[in-house]
Amino acid sequence: MYFLHRLFFSIGEFFYTLFLRLKVGSKIQKLSKEDINVLENLFPYYKNLSKEHQKDFISRLEWFLAEKEFIPRGELKKVTPEMKLLVGATAIMVTFGFRGVFLRHFSKILLYPDSYYSTINQKYHYGEVNPKLGLIVLSWEKFVEGFMHSQSGINLGIHEMAHAMKLENQIHYNRESNFFNPYRWERYAVEAKKEKEKIQKGDSNLFRKSAGANDHEFFAVALEVFFERSLEFAAYNPALYKALVYLLKQDPIQLHNSN
Ligand SMILES: [Zn+2]
Repeated sequence: MYFLHRLFFSIGEFFYTLFLRLKVGSKIQKLSKEDINVLENLFPYYKNLSKEHQKDFISRLEWFLAEKEFIPRGELKKVTPEMKLLVGATAIMVTFGFRGVFLRHFSKILLYPDSYYSTINQKYHYGEVNPKLGLIVLSWEKFVEGFMHSQSGINLGIHEMAHAMKLENQIHYNRESNFFNPYRWERYAVEAKKEKEKIQKGDSNLFRKSAGANDHEFFAVALEVFFERSLEFAAYNPALYKALVYLLKQDPIQLHNSN
């Protein structure tokens, strides 16, 4: 029985991969020299990767861009190739430890020029993730702001991609889920809980207050700081930093040291 089960599973896996290759593969567009220049000049994470990892980063980014639909909203008339490139690069950075993870459930990325009014909770927003509709929504202005101040620990793109990643891990229909090792998640959750309590008491001097709101917010803010203020994070709370390194299967500090 077990053998049959495995066999059917493998056949299913094979056809699913084939299906994806046909569906997405045909849409893949190679990044141009100018695109790669943009990454080199504006995306320090990419610049600091080894040559081999840069190649991998590019091919994953090409796949990501082929999979997603980018939609301009509000006053924004067009999503330019550069916008797609930078939003996509942020997603690839956050998920770089996981081969084959492209946040598949979130097939549409909506870009607003500035803040937008969300009908869900009747508030102005800069970004959100909608698991019901499979949307990642970003304000371009805020995205750029996060991105230009790359050591502030505040980055809308990383924040929303982190939300999407945590949700994707729990989604069970598209063969992308459960990429977080449960043991590593447990270890992370123990450290996260301690830090969250510190934030709630006002005793944390690295994480902003909104990280104390709930587990989702904590994870998203922790990833902003993990990627943008890695050294301070590791010095401030080495146990939590290490737990995230193991969970995300990458270490931004090593990245900087490798060059
Ligand atoms: Zn959030």
